[in-house]
Amino acid sequence: MHNFSNKNPLVFTIKGLCRVCYTCVRECPVKAIKIIDGQADIITERCIACGNCVIVCSQGAKTYYSSINRTENFIRSKNKTMLCIAPSFVAEFAEIKDYKVFVGMLKSIGFDYVTEVSFGADLVAEKYKNIFENKNKKSIITSDCPAIVNYISHYHPNLVDFLAPIISPAMAMAKIVKQKYGDDIRIIFAGPCIAKKAESNSFDENLTFTEIRKMLENKNISQENIKNSIFDNPISGKGAFFPVNHGLLKSINKTEGFGEGEVITAEGKIKFKEAINEFEKGLLKNHNLELLCCDGCIEGPGMSKGAPKLVKRMNINNYVNNKMKNLSLDKWNKEKAEFSNIDLSRTFEKKDRRLQKPEKNEIKKILILMDKKQEKDMLNCGACGYINCEEHAIAVCEGLAEIEMCLPYTIEKLHKLVEELNKSNLKLSDTKQALKQSEKLASMGQLSAGIAHELNNPLGIITLYSSILKDELDKKNDIYEDIKIIDQQAQRCKKIVGGLLNFARKNKVNLKEINIIQFIKNTFKSFVKPDNIEIKLDVQIKNPKVKIDNEQMMQAITNIEKNAVEAMPNGGIINVKILDKKDNFIIEIADTGTGIAEENIEKIFTPFFTTKGATKGTGLGLPLVYGIVKMHKGKINVKSNNKKENKKTGTTFTISIPRNLN
Ligand code: ADP
Ligand code: MG
Repeated sequence: MHNFSNKNPLVFTIKGLCRVCYTCVRECPVKAIKIIDGQADIITERCIACGNCVIVCSQGAKTYYSSINRTENFIRSKNKTMLCIAPSFVAEFAEIKDYKVFVGMLKSIGFDYVTEVSFGADLVAEKYKNIFENKNKKSIITSDCPAIVNYISHYHPNLVDFLAPIISPAMAMAKIVKQKYGDDIRIIFAGPCIAKKAESNSFDENLTFTEIRKMLENKNISQENIKNSIFDNPISGKGAFFPVNHGLLKSINKTEGFGEGEVITAEGKIKFKEAINEFEKGLLKNHNLELLCCDGCIEGPGMSKGAPKLVKRMNINNYVNNKMKNLSLDKWNKEKAEFSNIDLSRTFEKKDRRLQKPEKNEIKKILILMDKKQEKDMLNCGACGYINCEEHAIAVCEGLAEIEMCLPYTIEKLHKLVEELNKSNLKLSDTKQALKQSEKLASMGQLSAGIAHELNNPLGIITLYSSILKDELDKKNDIYEDIKIIDQQAQRCKKIVGGLLNFARKNKVNLKEINIIQFIKNTFKSFVKPDNIEIKLDVQIKNPKVKIDNEQMMQAITNIEKNAVEAMPNGGIINVKILDKKDNFIIEIADTGTGIAEENIEKIFTPFFTTKGATKGTGLGLPLVYGIVKMHKGKINVKSNNKKENKKTGTTFTISIPRNLN
């Protein structure tokens, strides 16, 4: 047997392949898997080598020590080699129609002899028969499954004394082979089990069927052109039933029963644990337990994945029945007698790996973290892999499980996260819009500042000389009027340039407390309202005292109101509303005008964008409004409909300004 240790573990994770799906954590019957550094790692001391994780990992991230190299070395050595093949080979190599071809293939690998483990099972089965039939003996738990033996010695050490003191069929076979072929022979096993690799020193290596397939493949050995061969002695009988459910009972012509001293069977990672629990509690008085960790060895982790379950059982049945038909009972009995001297007894060690149960309040703390505050929150759904929420919480306390393994908790968390994400997405798109706008304004500012700066000096000279000329000229002079116009226009140009410089400069706001109701009423007086337009004011604000830059905000609001008037050439209503919203106050200005076309909505805050024609519109109104609102740390929104078929047309501007400005 290879030497296993923490550094050379039997079952382990291939780093990098684990995608942390928790399947192995859930499926491990002894909670020997823990998430470490983003990988589901195996805690070697806790592992019973059942291989469940190897079976369930879809990523192939769980694997086990490979016996191929050492086996090949044995084959190359001068010692003879014996391959003892487990009876489940019929289930694994179902595509090989004749076992003689299979034996031929195995010998082509280089094994000198090939025999069946089932002869060992034949001998062991008789021992069990004796125990089961002796009603005065204490109840036992069968010990031919090495994962079950590991489980009991690690997690129910007080039951070790109940393990049948009998060696496994494989261990028996090793003794038989040595007796028959001599001590120098190298004994290699092949079967569906991983735990067997660490079962006993009595054999040299233990290959899984998957490894046998690999060896055949490496040597290009196929069914074709193979010299048939037969199993070497000793020949076996019904022991070949061992790898199926109730296999041991079948091989001794017994059925499961519930009478005194009868045998109860339990297979698979859930049922065997339940059976042991009931046995430990003394509920199964005077009954024996036949336990297998897998659902029969034919479902073991060393088998290829995906073969149909019942077909495997059927193949075993057919093989054993056929074997029994052709078996020379005489020869079989003679061989059994030949090895009757072999000592099949065994003892077991207690290797307690149980953890101390955490304190009640520790468990409660974890349950609260998992949002399980009351009895009704305990769904006990089992999705985490534990029988109930409390068991899961205990495993979390022990550092073996994660809170996130609770599916209802994780789903709830995810829902909340999605909600938050949606909210921040909305915020983000608002901010994006605002950013776009301020970028436009900034580049517009830069451009105008550049032009204004360049024009300012020559304009200064023009205004200086034109005013000197004007002052020096007699008013009656013919050109006095012309010079006066030049001077006036030059002064105007200076004003415009000054205005542009203003626009470019980041003006500050001059905040003053005002009454917003009065303020809005004043805005109505700063433009000419045609008779066909009605203005309505809806005051909902509780405290009308707010801080704003009176002049600038006046400019902003009147700009919006003027636009509203211009959008209603045939008359309409301007509805102005003032209201509170949390720490902000809101001014809403709605008109019943033409509305803004959808494709223009994005452009209206862009400088120089106008639909009013070059003579009427400047396209500088809304950019200014935007700038003023931003300087008040506020927000401006627009909603508009220009399609008559939808509903009434019109536009609503909403300005929101925080109250706590300073
Ligand atoms: P201008 O009024 O000089 O065109 P603005 O910046 O004030 O420039 O407005 C830009 C454009 O936005 C307008 O030309 C118009 O197309 C659109 N607009 C603004 N307010 C309204 C409104 N209340 N109804 C319809 N369109 C509007
Ligand atoms: Mg305008």
